[in-house]
Amino acid sequence: VRGPGECWPWLAGTTGGGYGYIVKGGKHGKMLGAHRVAYELTVGPIPPGLCIDHLCRNRACVNPAHLEPVTMQTNLLRGETAAAANAAKTACKRGHPFDEANTGRQDGGYRECRTCRRTRDREYKRSIARDRPATD
Ligand SMILES: [Zn+2]
Ligand SMILES: [Zn+2]
Repeated sequence: VRGPGECWPWLAGTTGGGYGYIVKGGKHGKMLGAHRVAYELTVGPIPPGLCIDHLCRNRACVNPAHLEPVTMQTNLLRGETAAAANAAKTACKRGHPFDEANTGRQDGGYRECRTCRRTRDREYKRSIARDRPATD
């Protein structure tokens, strides 16, 4: 059980693309997007021609507060803009290059600077050591 502001990940079947789905009408029934069903149950019918966009960009999420009916075009545009903005960056915010050796992948496909990650890990370990009371 999650709070109203959190993502509600669908725990049943998901498609290869990461969208939750349910099957209506038995084994050979129709496959429906779980987020569409969640929206229709809680908010109302989705206007014809519109698809449900995830404001949180979490495809498995079925929290109706994160779902918004948009035209297919808007949905594609939004997806491309986010991906394009991320892909266009050639260095992290500290200026380390996003080359092959320095680029890691986080959950969700976001790029992560390995140099910054190492610095963060080091600082974290140092802070733990500092907080530990001296024994000698
Ligand atoms: Zn969400
Ligand atoms: Zn960096």
